[in-house]
Amino acid sequence: MDKYVKVRKIGEGSFGKAILVKAKENGQHYVIKEINISKMSNKEREESRREVAVLANMKHPNIVLYRESFEENGCLYIVMDYCEGGDLFKKINAQKGTLFSEDQILDWFVQICLALKHIHDRKILHRDIKSQNIFLTKDGTIQLGDFGIARVLNSTAELARTCIGTPYYLSPEICQNKPYNNKSDIWALGCVLYEMCTLKHAFEAGNMKNLVLKIISGPFPPVSMHYSYDLRNLLSQLFKRNPRNRPSVNSILEKNFIAKRVEKFLTPQLIAEEFNHKIFQKFGPHAAP
Ligand code: ADP
Ligand code: MG
Repeated sequence: MDKYVKVRKIGEGSFGKAILVKAKENGQHYVIKEINISKMSNKEREESRREVAVLANMKHPNIVLYRESFEENGCLYIVMDYCEGGDLFKKINAQKGTLFSEDQILDWFVQICLALKHIHDRKILHRDIKSQNIFLTKDGTIQLGDFGIARVLNSTAELARTCIGTPYYLSPEICQNKPYNNKSDIWALGCVLYEMCTLKHAFEAGNMKNLVLKIISGPFPPVSMHYSYDLRNLLSQLFKRNPRNRPSVNSILEKNFIAKRVEKFLTPQLIAEEFNHKIFQKFGPHAAP
């Protein structure tokens, strides 16, 4: 921590503290996440270190950059870029009821999808998608942050941790104690899209029991007819109760009205890299039979 000066605590998240700091080296602001790992078992500690190593490798214009990590006095510290523009949740509340234009919503949405594609293509789940974990940079670029509880997907389908953090984004399968999967991230993505369209949560209730009931079977108030059929139809696909019926992030990005916005946010080189799936295959097209 001696490389940084603490400015103030900005939050107490589901897995630790968030502290705004200034680096002595360059005067830049960063956010440091403090995670207490002293009470963890050796196995869990190792797992957290491995996770952080994975996160440190994520580099994408729409993902909050992780700068470094270190351990001190039983805590794991993750240093990431500070997003001065604040988060989408604050942006939504600042509207005071005035709806966003469809253009604005879709420009934000496609950037969130590009970030999610980057991690899903690498078999990593976000697990905590919510408007408070989606940031805006000074120039208005969207950045997805807080992969705090993301875990590398393993084939033995580890039972996911449930009920972490804000419950509005819980998917029907999590409410029913089924494992978290990539489509649970898609449900949460739907919740964020709904929030951008209505400035409200799709599923709200006075207590957990009623919230769960609404999520697994209740309707959600319709979005304004001012928005296009494409957008409203996409929402209903993201909110399919059966995770298998929800589109993957790649098929969302293939939809015409979304796809045409991609080039506004990624350079041609990045588009080639991100959309060339061959790099993830063990054997290329020229592999020996
Ligand atoms: P939560 O579990 O609610 O996500 P966090 O500790 O992650 O809690 O965040 C607490 C607050 O700090 C939130 O309001 C969030 O917007 C803000 N915050 C978190 N990370 C950053 C960041 N990299 N840049 C700017 N603000 C951040
Ligand atoms: Mg957060």
